[in-house]
Amino acid sequence: REKAEKFTFQTEVNRMMKLIINSLYRNKEIFLRELISNASDAIDKIRLLALTDPKAQETNPELHIRIKADKENKALHIMDSGVGMTHQDLINNLGTIAKSGTADFLAKMQDPSKAEGSDLNDMIGQFGVGFYSAFLVADRVVVTTKHNDDKQYIWESDANSFSITEDPRGDTLKRGSVISLYLKDEAQDFLEEETVRELIRKYSQFINFPILMWSSKTVDEEVPIEEEAKPEKTEDDVEDEDAKVEEAADDDKPKTKKVSKTTWDWLLINDSKPIWTRKPAQVTEDEYTSFYKSLTKDSSEPLTQTHFIAEGEVTFKSLLYVPKIQPSESFNRYGTNSDNIKLYVRRVFITDEFNDMMPNYLSFIRGVVDSDDLPLNVSRETLQQHKLIKVIKKKLVRKVLDMLKKIDKEAYEKFWKEFSTNIKLGVMEDPSNRSRLAKLLRFQTSNGKGVTSLAEYVERMKSKQEHIYYIAGSNRAEVEKSPFVERLLSKGYEVLYLVEAVDEYCISALPEFDGKKFQNVAKEGFKLNESEKSKKNFEALQSSFEPLVKWLNDVALKDLIAKAQVSERLSNSPCALVAGVFGWTGNMERLAMSNAH
Ligand code: ADP
Ligand code: MG
Repeated sequence: REKAEKFTFQTEVNRMMKLIINSLYRNKEIFLRELISNASDAIDKIRLLALTDPKAQETNPELHIRIKADKENKALHIMDSGVGMTHQDLINNLGTIAKSGTADFLAKMQDPSKAEGSDLNDMIGQFGVGFYSAFLVADRVVVTTKHNDDKQYIWESDANSFSITEDPRGDTLKRGSVISLYLKDEAQDFLEEETVRELIRKYSQFINFPILMWSSKTVDEEVPIEEEAKPEKTEDDVEDEDAKVEEAADDDKPKTKKVSKTTWDWLLINDSKPIWTRKPAQVTEDEYTSFYKSLTKDSSEPLTQTHFIAEGEVTFKSLLYVPKIQPSESFNRYGTNSDNIKLYVRRVFITDEFNDMMPNYLSFIRGVVDSDDLPLNVSRETLQQHKLIKVIKKKLVRKVLDMLKKIDKEAYEKFWKEFSTNIKLGVMEDPSNRSRLAKLLRFQTSNGKGVTSLAEYVERMKSKQEHIYYIAGSNRAEVEKSPFVERLLSKGYEVLYLVEAVDEYCISALPEFDGKKFQNVAKEGFKLNESEKSKKNFEALQSSFEPLVKWLNDVALKDLIAKAQVSERLSNSPCALVAGVFGWTGNMERLAMSNAH
């Protein structure tokens, strides 16, 4: 080992390893999922390279992952025929953390106020702890790797520092990597075939390449019985009746005996046929759920999913999921994230980094898209601009909105709690789907405690009511007491209470629903359709108050307000401050002010 170069880990790596070891010690087994997922990523990479350069794959044509336990040396090996790593890759990939956001993540995880509870495991799990999870079970990790562009190297570490040596055995791997874990005493169970096989089934059943495990099989073989000299009879035997019977039976048997023999072979553990290529009718709910979990690392099941084959201008298969919980921080990253849709072309993984497979407001949707109609041998940039990608994106949105429409009432309440802001932003940002999105909206209302859809509101409208009434404010108690709604409520009209910051913007983006325009009851121009008699009354009121109105306009409130007038909207309160048709309402001013601060 004289030629070994010594390296220290980047500080973030040390912190990451500490965090992993401290928080996942009860969940050690995930190391295998992480290493198999890396193996699969590495094979994806060589396959993608081979699309434009077929020679790249020829160095080691078979694409598979192999797992072998070596009990004698207490080592578990995870081997892949993927892209491998060059000397520089080893330093960059297994010595630093390149992922953006890692520093933030680490800081957050080490914040004691957040670092408790069971979410922690989930958060770390979803973040993807990756390669360093190997140290959960191993005190020494050796990576042997061969990349097409470099020699074969051995990377070795005890978690404190690492070294890299050129492999003295030469390029034995042809291409790919072997991750060898020298297991800690308490992790010896991972040498057991049964344990490893179950873990692969649990976490890696949806890996799209064959996973082979070095497995033993015990077979009973008939072998000829050699003529043996019969042992001399003892006195005991003579007296033993049973022994005599046995001997008699032996005489009838053929001249062979059964011998247990152990043979070793590579056994296929997973079914690498992608789930989305199967017929929806033949996939069980459980399978959808397990696939979701392996795709997202989410430990809870999805809220719902849709699995379909789109046909027409472009044919593609897709499986899309709605998670139960809004991924944390998704609004801090709104507009910048979304690598949540995996794109495949003819079952070859292309990318999860187009970042616009879904519009921003649907960035919480997870899933896969696979099309035979897209070209394989073009750059990702060219593919991203391909006209069929646009068609696919449009269809995906429609399918998602369909899926959301079909969620039953109970589940939709849960959905709404998590994703209401997304749908409202959708109304504002996606004019072509505005009316579909409007059907998904829910608002608080004067009609009961829960939320209502606009369709339900319209159904309850009074026969002569032309508008959908709403008022916006910071909370329900405030808008309920507002003088603007007094009169409407006393006359039995229903008013929508827009109490979320985004609500009023959302409704402003919506010209109408089901032919009914929206009326902000806090804006000028609001009129009720009243009987002739009440119209007369109002006119009489207007003329009797004319001097007061004139005085308010010309003297008392001159320059302070646009105009004073007799109002139809009040019943108990003496006056109300109303926004002009084109003015901002008090609520919008409040929001604008608070955003400015
Ligand atoms: P991630 O997979 O999220 O990128 P990991 O910590 O799991 O993070 O892996 C770090 C990097 O190490 C990978 O991005 C990859 O470049 C490299 N790597 C890990 N395992 C392998 C492997 N088996 N073959 C090739 N490269 C690998
Ligand atoms: Mg990884």
